[in-house]
Amino acid sequence: LRNRRQLMNIHEYQAKDLYRQYGVPTAQGFPAMSVAEAVEAAKKLPGPVWVVKSQIHAGGRGKGKFKEPEAGEAGGVRLAKSIDEVKTFAEQILGNTLVTVQTADEGKQVNRLYVEDGSDIARELYLSALVDRDTSRIAFIASTEGGMDIEQVAHDTPEKILTITIDPAAGYQAFYGRKIAYGLGLEGNQVKQCVKMVGDLYRMFVEKDMSLLEINPLVVTKAGDLTCLDGKMDFDSNALYRHPEIMELRDLSEEDPMEIEASKHDLAFIKLDGNIGCLVNGAGLAMATLDIIKLYGCEPANFLDVGGSAPKERVKAAFEIILNDKAVKGILVNIFGGIMRCDIIAEGVVAASKELGVEVPLVVRLEGTNVEKGKQILAESGLAIVPADNLADAAKKITDEVKKLG
Ligand code: GDP
Ligand code: MG
Repeated sequence: LRNRRQLMNIHEYQAKDLYRQYGVPTAQGFPAMSVAEAVEAAKKLPGPVWVVKSQIHAGGRGKGKFKEPEAGEAGGVRLAKSIDEVKTFAEQILGNTLVTVQTADEGKQVNRLYVEDGSDIARELYLSALVDRDTSRIAFIASTEGGMDIEQVAHDTPEKILTITIDPAAGYQAFYGRKIAYGLGLEGNQVKQCVKMVGDLYRMFVEKDMSLLEINPLVVTKAGDLTCLDGKMDFDSNALYRHPEIMELRDLSEEDPMEIEASKHDLAFIKLDGNIGCLVNGAGLAMATLDIIKLYGCEPANFLDVGGSAPKERVKAAFEIILNDKAVKGILVNIFGGIMRCDIIAEGVVAASKELGVEVPLVVRLEGTNVEKGKQILAESGLAIVPADNLADAAKKITDEVKKLG
């Protein structure tokens, strides 16, 4: 959970623009926001095969299913044999909802397409790069089993996964690329292509502060060349301040509206599926709070961390996000004041409640700096607050209240 907020995703067509900037081989293609643009894009490409690809922030599109029957039985990645067919696929896909193994059950609406020059595929391979916490290095993971779910491959046939870590002091060296090439069963000129490509990918990964890069599949074409057919990129959001060009690629329609509102206030917020809203300070306490809510038989509605030292306005914004969430049937405020002062929390909670009203049970557990002052502010607010003495008591009280509602 803590990690999820620290990532930013981009679309495949944006990832492929980055490949091009770094000289990484990928097919020609253009994004399209409408059927007309998809047809225009196809006309600029040579054919005779075009690929119409749904652009959503989730993988597994090829094997995905659309919710709407008019979108047809085939998945979110279609091979078209004519420009007319590109048009038909674009009409079927745009505006419809694609469900894949990586989306939630409700799926994701497809608002953008990427129309690409079709590749003649001889082999599908797998290549990814990530920040490996065990070795504190960037690692490349390669496998001959491209186009498959890599977790499954790692589980069933671990011998088919090759991991190479790059020494940051020496930087990228050709022998890393050769090891990967041999591991992938590449030959002749492909080895040379691989050595250059992995070097370019490494440079891109470091320069753009990526936390994950996944190319699934990396293909060998029938002509014998390497091409990156897919691209998933995650960026470390703590480094985004130095990448306005990446920040511009953010697609807000792919993000939860509540999470967008929270990010405006610099709050660590993640929407979850349950019905108990949690206002907490510190990610560790937030995770402990989620755990104990589950232990008492309920499900949290969010992960909301106001941080170590928030001003009253940020606490108010945080509480407003919880109050505005229709799924919330009860609220637990769980604060351990250190640098964060309990009276500031109390002021923020009261200010938000006065504006929006609290119509659900509210349990508050305050501990630490200025706790007496905080309790006094809450007591004098006239709000119907159930006070709690400790974390277990708080969890029991809020889950009892919510269970009563049925
Ligand atoms: P994902 O399902 O979201 O991972 O989307 P991908 O971009 O990986 O595409 C899924 C699959 O579609 C690939 O594994 C390929 O088998 C197929 N595919 C994608 N592009 C092409 C192409 O240009 N030519 C051919 N023949 N197949 C393609
Ligand atoms: Mg893929």
